[in-house]
This record gives sequence, structure tokens and C-alpha cells, in this order.
Amino acid sequence: MRRKGDLPTKVCAACGLDFAWRKKWARDWDAVKYCSERCRRNKGGA
Ligand SMILES: [Zn+2]
Repeated sequence: MRRKGDLPTKVCAACGLDFAWRKKWARDWDAVKYCSERCRRNKGGA
């Protein structure tokens, strides 16, 4: 599956869903592990 925008994607460590690069993560994309703040607070769950 190829996305249109060619943005990098990752799999959320909390919910397991794919999520795409966002501007707000431009600085620390390498460190991003969760698709949202909610998941970040929820880590380990699910
Ligand atoms: Zn998530």
C-alpha cells in the first residue's frame, strides 16, 4: 500500500494503528512513538 503524499509513517506503540508524519513532529519524528497524546498517555494499554 502506497500513500499519495509519500509522508513517512509509523505504527503507534499504543493502539497499533499506522499514522503519518505531521508538521508538529518535524523536530522529533525519530522520537515519536504514538499517534496522539491520548495514546502517549495510554502507553502499554490495549
Ligand atoms: Zn495510537
